[in-house]
Amino acid sequence: MTNSSLNRRNFLKLGTAATAGFVAGGRNHASANSFNQLKKNDVIYRTLGNTGIRLPIVSMGVMRADNPNILKAAYNIGITHFDTAHGYQEGRNEEMVGNFFKDKPRDSFIIATKINPGRDASTRDFLDMLDVSLRRLQMEYVDILYLHAVSDTKHLYNENFIEALKLAKSEGKVKHVGFSTHRNMADLINAAVDNGFYEVILTTYNFRYADDEHLNNALKRAHDAGIGIIGMKNMAGGWLDEQKTKPVNCKAALKWALSNPHVHTCIPGIVSYEMLMENWSVASDVQLDNKEKNDLELALHETGMFCKGCNECEGQCSHHLPVSDLMRSYMYNYAYSYPAKARETVLAAGVSDNPCSGCMECSVHCRAGFDVRKKISDIARIQNVPSEFLV
Ligand code: SF4
Ligand code: SF4
Repeated sequence: MTNSSLNRRNFLKLGTAATAGFVAGGRNHASANSFNQLKKNDVIYRTLGNTGIRLPIVSMGVMRADNPNILKAAYNIGITHFDTAHGYQEGRNEEMVGNFFKDKPRDSFIIATKINPGRDASTRDFLDMLDVSLRRLQMEYVDILYLHAVSDTKHLYNENFIEALKLAKSEGKVKHVGFSTHRNMADLINAAVDNGFYEVILTTYNFRYADDEHLNNALKRAHDAGIGIIGMKNMAGGWLDEQKTKPVNCKAALKWALSNPHVHTCIPGIVSYEMLMENWSVASDVQLDNKEKNDLELALHETGMFCKGCNECEGQCSHHLPVSDLMRSYMYNYAYSYPAKARETVLAAGVSDNPCSGCMECSVHCRAGFDVRKKISDIARIQNVPSEFLV
């Protein structure tokens, strides 16, 4: 399916879903300040599956934030759920979260972190990484621990990792276990429903999946099975072009993701007060107006920079390059302006700095319409930039 073949009826159907049936109501947050332009009782809350955790539909992705004042503003405004990871900013992200929350009541916030122990890691390796995360966070436990960036069922059910997650939970270091995925999402979500081990799933989800019945049906199955569903990458990259002349309507994109009642909260990345205010305004209103719908529909007619993680390019490269990983790296750099993450992803892909140079003809057909060869040539060079020059 191409972007232009988007089924308009499906797109609008999800984009205008009513909020009826969701209980509105805010926590009584004593330190709300002038940033809070929403009435507390207007905030839409949803329950994170069988965990029983109730959250505002807008949470905070901390990944790129490096200013604790943004965390403070988000907490004061009423956001309760903060998402970080062991690997973000080489640990500094978890440290910042820990320093901010160390004197806050533990029941006033929900912390999720993610660990990617590497495919060959042992149970002990995984648990050691968790202990490092807990030290950085200055917490005795995290509310949600994800196995980070899962892309296939072998990874999802790696016995060492399952054992580590079970042990962490039994030792009280973790309240709920989950996994995050930005590739092959529908199959993994269905596998999780069938198996019943994971309690929470953090998945890529945005308007570019409007017509993806496989994914939307999997989300419904998971929701119905009591799995908590958290959406990420809701802005589909935020920009449609490398030059950053064509922004995605991010508020509309967040509304679109949250208009699916099977998504319980989303974690837009927030690095400024402006982003905080824009995202938080969605917490009480997920109805798309006509202009917002139009903006998203127009965006769908552009190729953009968002790799859908559909896995269709898997195995197509005659030189066995991990194309979707490299397209994701490209997106991190050119759309998210996060070159450090792009470099990390390129290095993890284990390719040379010009991996397409010896290839006469590209055999890869990308579902999104990317010029794969050009994008790989652009992004693979980033591994030559010393990490200290990148943010
Ligand atoms: S041009 Fe690059 S991505 Fe395309 S087939 Fe050749 S090596 Fe693979
Ligand atoms: S590069 Fe294209 S085909 Fe491959 S996963 Fe991304 S969107 Fe799908």
